[in-house]
Amino acid sequence: MSQHRARILDGKAIAQTVRSEVRQQVADLRAQGITPGLAVIVVGDDPASHIYVRNKSRACQEVGIVVFDHSLPAQTTAAELKALLHQLNADPSVYGVLLQLPIPAGLPVGEILDQLDPMKDVDGLLEANVGRLWLGRPRFVPCTPLGVMRLLSEAAAQLRGARAVVIGRSILVGRPMAALLLAADATVTICHSRSLDLADRVAEADVVVAAIGKPEAIVGRFIKPGAVVIDVGINRLADGKLVGDVEFVGAVERASAITPVPGGVGPLTIAYLLHNTVLAAKLRHGLAAD
Ligand code: NAP
Repeated sequence: MSQHRARILDGKAIAQTVRSEVRQQVADLRAQGITPGLAVIVVGDDPASHIYVRNKSRACQEVGIVVFDHSLPAQTTAAELKALLHQLNADPSVYGVLLQLPIPAGLPVGEILDQLDPMKDVDGLLEANVGRLWLGRPRFVPCTPLGVMRLLSEAAAQLRGARAVVIGRSILVGRPMAALLLAADATVTICHSRSLDLADRVAEADVVVAAIGKPEAIVGRFIKPGAVVIDVGINRLADGKLVGDVEFVGAVERASAITPVPGGVGPLTIAYLLHNTVLAAKLRHGLAAD
């Protein structure tokens, strides 16, 4: 047994700080007659999606952001979703639009999202926002990677010149995560399901961000002693227990700081959705530089 044990990063507490910051900004906007509003669309009956949407809506209301709820049946067509997006684009009380993913199989998600006004794309998924991030002129950056950067900052992780490994290359998490770490001057490696040398890449990393969706796929003894480990994964086991993508019990003995699951990245994701909604309001009213 090593004498070393990682600091466990308290995502809930850090998210509370972000939420208080946002609450103050919403109060300032409201004092100027601006009420930030977020439209939340969920299609179908996926129980996890409904839980996420409920938590996000509650968090919005708690800081004074108005929520426009659009819960739609699984049979909703692409044409109906596109028409809804057009309507929300035109509605001045809607500053941001969140389409909870995944939507039912068979619906062309990219084609539907393309109808959204990029200035309301608070999830940062549209070409314009993805492109801006990689060009070094970020506008809306996906909420989870923003939350991870905040956790790394709270962990006082040294990013400049550090070796960072991102495991997962999704549009929503892995890729924007890599862009943010690169912008922070880390030397970034992106691994994925076809990577042949995952264990070696993890073993040399000062910062590990796991966003895979496979329970405890990253074995604790892979972790370099002293590394900072951020576990984005949320996996429900057969017994109902939630675990991350990193084998926590092993990793906590080697890392210098690590996020738990639950209570790590998840709360930050919600907090940064609020942050992006406020940013949308500020951008529309010329109160933030674009
Ligand atoms: P995703 O779209 O399914 O992407 C998973 C990525 O992991 C893919 O790039 C895949 O590679 C890679 N991968 C799969 N198996 C792998 C393996 N054995 N070794 C290395 N790479 C592997 O998932 P996502 O949306 O990015 O989400 C990832 C996880 O984070 C999920 O558990 C999700 O629930 C969780 N999540 C949490 C939050 C939060 O707030 N905490 C937010 C978003 C997502 P390929 O590209 O080759 O298929």
